[in-house]
Amino acid sequence: MSWKEAAEMSKQFVQKELYNENDQPFDSCSDCKNKLEGDYKIFKSYSRLTKNEKHKLIFGVALCSQCLETYTSEISKSTTSKLESLGETYPDFGVTSIDISFLRGMDDNQVHRCAISNKTINELNEYQMSAICYNDKQITPISILGDEGLKEYQDCISDETQGYIDDFVNRIIDLPPEIEVLLKDDHFVLI
Ligand SMILES: [Zn+2]
Repeated sequence: MSWKEAAEMSKQFVQKELYNENDQPFDSCSDCKNKLEGDYKIFKSYSRLTKNEKHKLIFGVALCSQCLETYTSEISKSTTSKLESLGETYPDFGVTSIDISFLRGMDDNQVHRCAISNKTINELNEYQMSAICYNDKQITPISILGDEGLKEYQDCISDETQGYIDDFVNRIIDLPPEIEVLLKDDHFVLI
């Protein structure tokens, strides 16, 4: 099934958790700035310093299929194979396949959990979410990586690829200083 066929079948509209910083659905690609048409991927990253605080949005980006392809093609082969084996160990990690039951529509009150540690968002100080969408429909469930998951993910990434990801994210987003404080070890992930 193609993304397009999945979108036609999907009863699941893009979940609010995946909206942009203005609480609106993303409508343009964060890189090329073109209007989002067809399939695209949303990435959002949240952080807080202590368990008593609310999470702050570090960044939220949407990448059209072309920009996403360019981005992933630059990820080194060694990193890609390590990430693939991580995906084999943790089936919810970076879901990219079509899940028919998901297309029937999700419960909006579902609890999101880290694909690796299985912890809920409330138990995490830092997490990133991603999902693939198609126009106003969502095709994959939201995939979450929390503190431990992000660490496992970063262990897979070569220094070269990490430099590339940092440059890529720095180019498309502008972090205010109060947010930079929350960015642990100054590295980005884009799963
Ligand atoms: Zn684009």
